[in-house]
Amino acid sequence: MSMQSIVTPGDKVCVEEEFIPQAWTYAENGDVRALVVGKPVFDIINRRVYVKPLKNIEMPKSGDIVIGVVEQMKDEIAIIRLIGYDANRTFKHSFRGVLHISQASNTRIQNLYEVIRLGDVVRVKILNNYIPYLVTMKDAKLGVVEAFCSRCGAPLYRDKSKDVLRCKVCGNIESRKIAPDYAYILHK
Ligand SMILES: [Zn+2]
Repeated sequence: MSMQSIVTPGDKVCVEEEFIPQAWTYAENGDVRALVVGKPVFDIINRRVYVKPLKNIEMPKSGDIVIGVVEQMKDEIAIIRLIGYDANRTFKHSFRGVLHISQASNTRIQNLYEVIRLGDVVRVKILNNYIPYLVTMKDAKLGVVEAFCSRCGAPLYRDKSKDVLRCKVCGNIESRKIAPDYAYILHK
């Protein structure tokens, strides 16, 4: 059973074997998923689950520039957990955005791993007005704002002369699409 307090449309709430799907849910391949943004309510005794829709939720809209964390990724697609407009204006509930390789860079890339990695904090622009949100990282001001070494987990520093990121701990060098206001700058 999922412990998340808020679900957005398409999110897995639980498996059908455990709870019978009721209002504002649907079953898909044995999973119970949410139809709306809301709070899952589990009736343990009768083994039923429904989603209580939440109203007046601040939803990002097309054109908004938001901060997110790379939550899952493959070669051509990444799921970004959108957390807010900036560190001081976070959403009450986070949303998912989908970043396709065609929206990740202005230059031609073979693989998303050339521009982002799992756990990176990124600035993206929202392209639509419904869930799942589609996002782009193409504009110059968009991109990775904070990243960590894939090898040792330490913060990566921007090497301004080479436009790559460098780990001060293990010396690892990694590529990203770096936002102009990237968090850590290498001074030497
Ligand atoms: Zn490292």
